[in-house]
Amino acid sequence: MFPPCLPVYFFAFPMNERSLQTALAHLNIGGLRYFDSIGSTNDEALAWAADGARDFSIVAADEQTRGRGRLNRKWFTPKGSAIAMSLILRPAADLRPHLARTVGWAALAIVKACAELGLAARIKWPNDILLDAKKIAGVLVEAVWSGDDIDALVIGVGINVRKESVPPAAALQFPAASLEDALGKEPPAREEFLARVLDAFIHWRARLRTDELIQAWNEALAFRGEQIQIHAGDETPSAGEALGVETDGSLRVRHADGKIVLVRVGDVSLRPRA
Ligand code: ADP
Repeated sequence: MFPPCLPVYFFAFPMNERSLQTALAHLNIGGLRYFDSIGSTNDEALAWAADGARDFSIVAADEQTRGRGRLNRKWFTPKGSAIAMSLILRPAADLRPHLARTVGWAALAIVKACAELGLAARIKWPNDILLDAKKIAGVLVEAVWSGDDIDALVIGVGINVRKESVPPAAALQFPAASLEDALGKEPPAREEFLARVLDAFIHWRARLRTDELIQAWNEALAFRGEQIQIHAGDETPSAGEALGVETDGSLRVRHADGKIVLVRVGDVSLRPRA
């Protein structure tokens, strides 16, 4: 008689502190805090950063119960299927003039990790990563201030790895998918993919000041040359053609009357025009 069929992934893909430490062993991380369940990894990282966390310290969790997107929107991280990670950075003086590029840097790290799996990801400016025009990851950058200076940056990353991580369509304004959906087969273990993302963070950190980063950001930009709607806070959405990313990470947009405006990285959200 055959043994009963057990859900293989349950055994093959448990993530815990030790498996994470093993996967990240080759990286020179500042510290690691791992949680089976947490409210928000960014909240924990902000508190840790204010309490002296070292550069490149990591907060990771299997599940988030109060994960945040921009403008206090919810980010879903159900257990066992997604990556919820916040990276604490203490930017060196030479990087400080370029911190407006941080969201692009983080997005490009995820794009590079996807490319290593053979997946061509696009960046829905400023902070979402798409595969096949569906959102598979989001980035939330927050800062710890010391007077007028940035003391630390917290880069929160949520990545849908397994199918089970994708929220129900009714909960979303933009279609979502997972790495598993895009690959059409078993995705890598979450620790393994996270290690790739962190390797790519280091790759792009060395290039944060360069034109290469802006060029890569533009090459990966979703909806480039297309009509888009820009939602900025509670203001009435405006429409225009997405032209490209500027050196400070702003999005250049051409309105219907021909006027060109720069939309700064801030509390804006962007969707293809209906
Ligand atoms: P926006 O899509 O407007 O840029 P955010 O980047 O802040 O907004 O992301 C938050 C939004 O993402 C939520 O309002 C929700 O619609 C959607 N969302 C939440 N969790 C997930 C997830 N795991 N995968 C894909 N989309 C999600």
